[in-house]
Amino acid sequence: MDATPLQAWRDTLQELGVLGLVREAQPQAPPAVQPPARKVEARPALPPPKPAGVAYAPPTDPLGCPPDAAVAGAADLAALAQAIQGCLRCPLGPGRMRFVFGEGHPRARLMFVGEGPGRDEDLQGRPFVGKAGELLDRMIEALGLRREDTYIANVVKCRPPDNRTPTPDEARACLGYLRRQIELIQPAVIVTLGATPLRELVGLTDGITRIRGQWRQVKVGDRDIPVMPTFHPAYVLRQYTQEVRRAVWEDLKAAKAWVDKASS
Ligand code: SF4
Repeated sequence: MDATPLQAWRDTLQELGVLGLVREAQPQAPPAVQPPARKVEARPALPPPKPAGVAYAPPTDPLGCPPDAAVAGAADLAALAQAIQGCLRCPLGPGRMRFVFGEGHPRARLMFVGEGPGRDEDLQGRPFVGKAGELLDRMIEALGLRREDTYIANVVKCRPPDNRTPTPDEARACLGYLRRQIELIQPAVIVTLGATPLRELVGLTDGITRIRGQWRQVKVGDRDIPVMPTFHPAYVLRQYTQEVRRAVWEDLKAAKAWVDKASS
């Protein structure tokens, strides 16, 4: 791993004077979303870290599509992963090395949603474990959190060939799984990383450069969940300007501040 970009990210935070100041930031409330009225329940103990994602298992039904009832009826994340791990609903399924379900705290308050697995993720069966994942980890740490305090998932669970963007048909074939994950986790805030989750999950086709940093929301189940759109870490690594780094940092601070407010 070339450490230079990550060190530069840290240097940028220091230049901006933002390291260690996360809790001092006063959140600007999303316009149309109220924090949950109920007292947040104590979260269960963190699950032990998983060295690898859900291993591939051949589908048991001839079409490779888990029944919708099995998805909707999954009582927890483990049951959902078990139900869908053999999925061949879209053309990405046959090409995967490993199924990348997602990982993190089962009741995370902050959830990240990216586009889809890349090469490293496909090999390991875990989301965001390549260079972009290392940068995301640093961002989370800079917020005063640990990766395992959050939940990280993608719009599609199988790697698109050559890391291309999933087609709308592929994304929509997989979207029900992500939505059920969100229902089970009940995050206070979702941070979408890049244009694809914004388009497929939230239904917005505006350019990410124009819309990033502006609160949106998505209805999942009976909840309206605030959404903070920001750049994908891979884009940050490609466009490694202070302007881009500052923008992402401001977006993440806003998301974290809203999580704190919703949890207080
Ligand atoms: S990307 Fe999603 S819908 Fe397509 S085969 Fe994989 S799990 Fe199934």
